[in-house]
Amino acid sequence: MSQTARQTPDDFIAAGHTPMMAQYMAVKAAHPDCLLLYRMGDFYELFFDDALTASRILDITLTRRGKTDGQDIPMCGVPIHALDPYLARLIKSGHRVAICEQTETPIEAKKRGGAKALVTRDVIRIVTPATLTEDTLLNARAANYLAALTLARGELGLAWLDLSTGLVHSEVTVPASLSTTLARLNPAEVLVNQRVMEDDTLRQTLEPLGRAITIQGASLFDAMNAQARLLAYYNVGTLDAFGRFGLGEIAALGALIDYVERTQKSHVTHLRPPVQVRSASILSIDPSTRRNLELTETMTGNRDGSLLSVIDRTVTATGARLLHARISAPLCDRAAITARHDEIDALLDPSAPRAQLRDALATIPDLERALSRLALGRGSPRDLAAVRDTITGAHNIHALFSAAPTALAPLLAALGPDHTIDVVRDELATALADELPAFTNDGGFIRAGYHADLDHTRGLRDNGRRLIIALQQQYATVSGVETLKIAHNNILGYYIEVSAKKADALFAKPETFIHRQTMANAIRFTTTELAGLERDLVAAADRALAIELDLFASLRDHILGVRAPLIDMAGSIAALDVAASLADLAANDNYVRPVLTDDDDFHIVQGRHPVVEAALKSRGTPFIANDAQVCGGQNLWLLTGPNMAGKSTFLRQNAVIIILAQMGAFVPASSATIGVVDKLFSRVGAADDLAQGRSTFMVEMVETAAILHQATSRSFVILDEIGRGTATFDGLSIAWATLEYLHDAIKCRALFATHYHELTTLSSRLPHLYPATMDVKEWQGNIVFLHTVRPGNADRSYGIHVARLAGLPDAVTTRAATILKTLEAGDQANTLGKLAEDLPLFNAAPAPLSAKSHPVIEQLNAINADALSPRDALDLIYQLKQKI
Ligand code: ATP
Repeated sequence: MSQTARQTPDDFIAAGHTPMMAQYMAVKAAHPDCLLLYRMGDFYELFFDDALTASRILDITLTRRGKTDGQDIPMCGVPIHALDPYLARLIKSGHRVAICEQTETPIEAKKRGGAKALVTRDVIRIVTPATLTEDTLLNARAANYLAALTLARGELGLAWLDLSTGLVHSEVTVPASLSTTLARLNPAEVLVNQRVMEDDTLRQTLEPLGRAITIQGASLFDAMNAQARLLAYYNVGTLDAFGRFGLGEIAALGALIDYVERTQKSHVTHLRPPVQVRSASILSIDPSTRRNLELTETMTGNRDGSLLSVIDRTVTATGARLLHARISAPLCDRAAITARHDEIDALLDPSAPRAQLRDALATIPDLERALSRLALGRGSPRDLAAVRDTITGAHNIHALFSAAPTALAPLLAALGPDHTIDVVRDELATALADELPAFTNDGGFIRAGYHADLDHTRGLRDNGRRLIIALQQQYATVSGVETLKIAHNNILGYYIEVSAKKADALFAKPETFIHRQTMANAIRFTTTELAGLERDLVAAADRALAIELDLFASLRDHILGVRAPLIDMAGSIAALDVAASLADLAANDNYVRPVLTDDDDFHIVQGRHPVVEAALKSRGTPFIANDAQVCGGQNLWLLTGPNMAGKSTFLRQNAVIIILAQMGAFVPASSATIGVVDKLFSRVGAADDLAQGRSTFMVEMVETAAILHQATSRSFVILDEIGRGTATFDGLSIAWATLEYLHDAIKCRALFATHYHELTTLSSRLPHLYPATMDVKEWQGNIVFLHTVRPGNADRSYGIHVARLAGLPDAVTTRAATILKTLEAGDQANTLGKLAEDLPLFNAAPAPLSAKSHPVIEQLNAINADALSPRDALDLIYQLKQKI
């Protein structure tokens, strides 16, 4: 979207290009950052480098279309009716796509510039990742945000909108919380100005977003222009009615609206007034915590296996998006959370028609996105039907509740009969045909009997078709060729076709049959009568379509006239779906309503981890529930225990319970009392971040630093195995000091899991430190993981035992056991020296066995222990035991 003076086709003709190529090049020059899809007949074609790029991404044939300047012009194309899947792939691979259409008909072009005039073309829309509206290109179950970030007089303003629903939000932010907010929104594109990118901290924060960042010219972010643009857009004299916006927010909001209008190439009318978000009202979850807890996707990027995938029982697209938004942004406002819990409670009441409600919801289409497409002039007859069916479905839901429970009353109020909406619904019900085409231009969506002129014109068109069929019979008789057919294609229109062998009969009557085309096996003719009938038929069909398009526009305008109550309706449907879905989850999976307080309570009885529980259930294994009382004099838990005992699961389940409680859901426990948490931090597991040039240990320390800087006494922190990525004493010291800092300085609620058993000695010095451990039983030389948490300290980590389970060679585990015994015996420095000299590895190894001596040995030799998961290792042990 270049802002420089536009080059005209004449400039390119002067440079020696053909008129057609000159026209193309002028359009392309105005959109250098986009792949240009150029309308030619029934295809969108791409030329030059665009063709090379697109043919590679889309895996379509690259050909040539003529020459320009003596060079072949590379070309590829996609059929207009199959555009969406191709568009999806181009966008997904990081490209912006400009769609260039004919902006006049060939007849208009002829009138304007004579027989040789080129049909004018221009870009009608620029498709970018965040400005999609098509259902086929969007994930129905998640919002698709376009964000803008700007620094204006030192204020960092962030605004975001979802073009597919028209929702607009803004927030004043600070560099330290920016990554947390962006992780919550997960925007498809972020517009920033150069000034933002010149700030080192901001640039580093934005870097992980990669291609989603679009740098825009400074003028786009000018606060004064932006203010004027917003006032004009919302047609108000002041923005105060919507809130008191800072300069940064105004600049960012203005940039969004400008960008949307420039990409949509039209006046976008459906954006709602901006809603200010106070970040303090949302539970802060930084990007690594969000990743660790796998809220909406797993660490490997899949939805399956995420917390959302396990709790999502919604049956509408709007409900699914709302649930996604709520899990991404749990609240801190106790009253707002309680109101959501009340809705679930109301639907759990035995008298509530929950099952019927869910059945009725399941029939409701995606009204929000249908409305946006209609407002953007991109709607289809099916979007009209979506409005009709939503209104009907909403009324059905309203009728299910003879007396609305108090908690649901505001939601149900938007679904009941309403004269202005019902008039539109009735109009749509009478106007729309039973079967609806996907595209408005296909016609045929208005019911017969709705519009007299349309019925009449369709009659003429259909009569023309009947007359043509009658002609076929007549010509067969006249020519004596029984197999004569009248057919139609887009190039010739209607034509008579006979096989080459029978053509002489028609050639013999040149006064009737006019030769049009000779094919390999067939010859095509026309007649004056057929051409005349076709003209009448085409005129009638064109007129019928024009009437239908007018009717479509008028129905659409009626709908847009009642957009505000329809948007409320969509919002209520989404909220009811979420409440019903969470009520179903609570009823079927044994979730309980949490009690929220303003103190530092955290008392969970028999808590569970929903995702681990679901995974175990599918294998027929029960999940062991555990209590956690992390408050008062024991707000800092020090959890020790063997590997594989369930420490990480326990840590995470308590974080997940907080998220569920504060997003307004019930929680997997038999009771839960939680003092509202302001920030949740989770550092679990370790991974490199090679892209950012950080080693595993560096990542661990960066994340720990963020926690220790940002946590407050109202926060909840879970830390798993801090300090494991460095030398033992370094790690132990860091873990030790971190624990003290949490205890003495931050004083928040925290769960701290560690294998440094030395830390348990701190419990005598730190009064709020509560030692807890995971229970295991030793049985016949093996350990059994009980997965229960109890007060106390673990005496050992059983690491060598787990290593044995994982299939490390016997030589290694036996040797490790010896080293461990020696190390545990005393003074490490001397012992290590001795060990190095006295106990070479294979002294401890059993005598090497011949690989051919036993199938178990053969199998053992063949395995790559490093590539085995603990689970595979366990399976392997069972297999091996059976072979002995
Ligand atoms: P490590 O110290 O090796 O990281 P860990 O103590 O953190 O191990 P987890 O990763 O939490 O252990 O759990 C290991 C496995 O134990 C889980 O994948 C799960 O299958 C099982 N498990 C954990 N907690 C429970 C539980 N409460 N009930 C049943 N099974 C559990």
